[in-house]
Formats: sequence, C-alpha cells, structure tokens
Amino acid sequence: MEFKNTLDFAKLIDANDPLRSFRDEFHIPRHEGKETLYFTGNSLGLQPKQTASYLNEELILWKERGVDGHFEGKRPWFHYHKFAKEGLAKIVGALPEEVVPMNSLTTNLHLLMVSFYRPNKQRFKIITEAGAFPSDQYALESQVRFHGFDPKDAIIEVAPRKGETILRTENIVSAIEENAKELALVLFSGVQYFTGQLFDIKTITKTGHKAGALVGFDLAHAAGNVPLHLHDHEVDFAVWCHYKYLNSGPGSVAGAFVHSKHGNNSELPRFAGWWGHSEEERFLMKKGFKPMQGADGWQLSNANVLTTTALLASLDVADRAGMDRMRIKSELLTGYLEFLLKETFSEDKLKILTPSIKEERGCQLSISLPGSGRAVFEKLLENGVVADWREPNLGEGQAGVIRVAPTPLYNRFEDVYVFVQLLEKAMS
Ligand SMILES: *Cc1c(COP(=O)(O)O)cnc(C)c1O
Repeated sequence: MEFKNTLDFAKLIDANDPLRSFRDEFHIPRHEGKETLYFTGNSLGLQPKQTASYLNEELILWKERGVDGHFEGKRPWFHYHKFAKEGLAKIVGALPEEVVPMNSLTTNLHLLMVSFYRPNKQRFKIITEAGAFPSDQYALESQVRFHGFDPKDAIIEVAPRKGETILRTENIVSAIEENAKELALVLFSGVQYFTGQLFDIKTITKTGHKAGALVGFDLAHAAGNVPLHLHDHEVDFAVWCHYKYLNSGPGSVAGAFVHSKHGNNSELPRFAGWWGHSEEERFLMKKGFKPMQGADGWQLSNANVLTTTALLASLDVADRAGMDRMRIKSELLTGYLEFLLKETFSEDKLKILTPSIKEERGCQLSISLPGSGRAVFEKLLENGVVADWREPNLGEGQAGVIRVAPTPLYNRFEDVYVFVQLLEKAMS
C-alpha cells in the first residue's frame, strides 16, 4: 500500500479496515474529556467491554451457589483452566494440551526452569539477550545461584554489535555454537521489550537443540502481538502474561507452554501441587504425586477464576478478530507510523531502534530522541498521548526510548496520524 501523510488518508484506511468495529468493544481511557491516544497495549492492554459481564457471571455463581460453583454453572471452576486452552493454543501456535493458564509470568518462568534448567558440571550455561527485562534477569541469576553456580560464569548475554541497537541472528547463532559444550539452556524473549525486535524463534530453537541445549522463550511482548508456532518450531517451553497484548487486566493469570515431547514425561523434576495431580484422584487426598498429562501437570493451585474469566473474555475478542487479520492490520498500522515518522523527522532528530523489516518486529516502535526524549515525552502526556518511557537497558551511552505500540484491536490509523502531529509540535 502506498501511504500518504494526510489525515484524510488515515481516515480512509480506517474506513476500509475490516477490524474497525473491534475498537467499539473496548473502553478507551479519557484525558480532559477526550479519548486518549492509547499506545501502551504493550504494557497494559485496554479493557474489553464484555469483561465485566464475564466477571459478573462468576460473582453471581459464587453469590448464589457458594462452593457448588466448582461443579455447577456454565463454566464450573474445577475445570476453569481448560476453558482457555483452545484460545491460547491458537495464539501461541500450540496443541491445547501444551498450554495452560496459571500463576504469573515470573512464577511460571521459575517453575519451568525447575524442569528445564538442569545444570551439571559440564553443562551449566544459559544464553540470553543482553538487557533482558529485569524480572527475567533476576529469575535467571537466582536459578543459577540456586544450583550453586556463579551468574558471571553461567550466564552468557548476547549484546548488539558496537554501534548497533538490535541483535543479529548470526551473532546469537555463533554465541550458541561457541558455548555448545557447556550450554544447558537458551532463553530469549520473543519480542524484546526495549527495542521491539522480534527474534527468530525457529532458528534460535534449532541452533540451541543442535548444541544439545533446551530452549525456552519469554513471550510477554509476543503473545497476541505476532503469530507464533511454538509446537512446529519445537520450542521446549515458554511463558507469557495476558495483561499486555491480550487485554485481560492488571496482574491477570499468565500462560505456560510445555512441548508435547516433554508434557507426558513424569520423570521430569518439577515443583508440584495438587492441581497438577491426576484429575481423577485429586480429591482422594492420597500420597504420591501423579502428574496430569501435558502442561496441566505443572499447575500448583486451583484456578484463579476471577482473572481467568477476564482472560476468557479477551480471548473471545481475539478469536473473533483472528490472529491472521490482526497481524495484517498490525503490519500496516506500525508501517504507517514508521512512514510518518520518517517523513516528518530527520535521523538526527529522531531514531527508530526497532527493526524496519516487518518480520523482525511486532506492533511496537521504540523511538529515541537524542537529547530531548524525556521532556518531549512529558509534553505528549499532557496532550492525551499514552505511550511509555523506558530508561536505557544497556547502560552508558545509550538513550532512553519512548515506546509506541499501536495495536490492531483498538488503535486507528487516525490515532497514529494525530500522534505524529503532536510529536512534531512537542519537539518544536
Ligand atoms: C512484562 C514482562 C514481565 C513481567 O513479569 P510479571 O511476572 O508478569 O510481573 C516479565 N518479563 C518480560 C520480558 C516482560 O515483558
């Protein structure tokens, strides 16, 4: 499509957008009486209007039936995690038995590392990206220490080349190959939270396996943002949250994926709880843990019904929109933002860190404004733009970024156009 830098053009694509009606299914926060330009779906996605009625159904069931809600009503609580499986499987490209909603993201990362990071004297290293999200860094460091190793020896961080901001797949591949003999685990994010780079999950997984390591992904910024194929790419395990691109509310239940090649291996060490125990025997209260088949066997506790119901509400919206259609719109929408930024600003005023190849990114563009970033960001906030500011993740010499994530479910081309107008004003 040939883009034009005019409001009429933006409105014309909006009018022809097959997903345009989905915006009406969300509550759009307001600023001084007007709808905000909301670009932080990468941090907290907006609330679907139907979430309240999903929640209310569970509140009514609880109010009227009390404990019997576990086995009665439209969605008995005993089976609650199962109701999200089909939807989640489509989002991450998995079999329903490979996915389960449970806990929170960082908890799931720890739980799955218990099973899939099994270091020994020969193989103890983890390869990850430099500047990973802090929670992931803390999780990796503490896991390494828990096993009696020193993070300085055990964690290899792949950094961009000097003068570059994004990682080259070839550098990730060679880091894996160079450490092959000592490598226990490769753990990357799917989409990098700071740069917005979408990593080559297929190649990283293949290379990790060739080196004799297991491979896991943190898909916090990828789930619901880019198409994923965890099963076909033979990823060993993955975790993600649902409050970013999957709009299921702050602190909502997270997700986990365990590939079917591992899911029924009851020999795998794991930290167990009663909800991972064989369903038929769960209430027999017997000694001896017998895991459920598939990812369900990693559950600890009974389902977090109130946040899982918010997930069901948002998965229903995502399912009706369809990941394929969302991706088509997303590529155009982010492409339009990139086009407008390049039309409007010279490179010395504004740099886009995120790769310009659409296969290497999701919705988000990370923008750095040499010198004036933070002040410009504040001015945007005053004008009803909701974006976010991130301090440098690789330390000295690097600038902070404004992250802008137009999402295909509720953002319009018009939003993107007006945003760039406001940015130009804020910078002048
Ligand atoms: C958002 C995010 C988290 C947040 O972890 P929680 O356990 O949900 O608080 C962790 N890692 C990455 C990469 C994220 O983007």
